[in-house]
Parts: sequence; C-alpha cells; structure tokens
Amino acid sequence: MYCPHCGEQISAQAEICPKCGVRIKNGHAGNVGDDKPNIAVNLLSFCCIPILGVVLFFVWKDSKPIAAKSALIWSLVSLGIWIILSVVFGIFGAMFSDPSYYY
Ligand SMILES: [Zn+2]
Repeated sequence: MYCPHCGEQISAQAEICPKCGVRIKNGHAGNVGDDKPNIAVNLLSFCCIPILGVVLFFVWKDSKPIAAKSALIWSLVSLGIWIILSVVFGIFGAMFSDPSYYY
C-alpha cells in the first residue's frame, strides 16, 4: 500500500508511515480523528462514576483505543484517590474517636 500523505510505498501492516510519520490505520485513515480522549467521559469517570471508565474501556478498546485508555486511566486515578481518601479519613476518624474512650 501507499501512504495517503506522502505517497511512499509502505508495509500494509504499518500503522505509521516511516517516511512522514503520518498515522495510517489499515485504510481507515479518515476515522483516526474520532479516536481522542473524551473529556466529558473522563470527567464523569473521574468525579462521579469510576466504573463508567472501566465499562467504556471494554466497549471502546477495539474501535477507539485512545479514548478507551484515557477513560480507564481517569477512572483508575479516581479510584486511587478514593482509596487514599478513605484510608486518610479512616486514620483521622480513629484519631478523633480515640479520646472518647477516656470519657
Ligand atoms: Zn508518508
């Protein structure tokens, strides 16, 4: 096949043209623009519904790998923050509830 950008002959398996660096997706070059991190989904996965990012990762991982990975990362970051927060508040809770044993 030939690179649609520079016309260089390249391997049919190539995802990126070695000459000009343009990304080629096995004849679906027009769809590449659709695959980008979805900010609305990332925000939802991050602040509201962490499981949404995980679900969308499996839904999108074939058709939109970049958006899928981005959603997964945000949901994992969100989960990590929630775990850290619950540990921190657990420690603080233990510290503040301790003195009540003495009264
Ligand atoms: Zn090229």
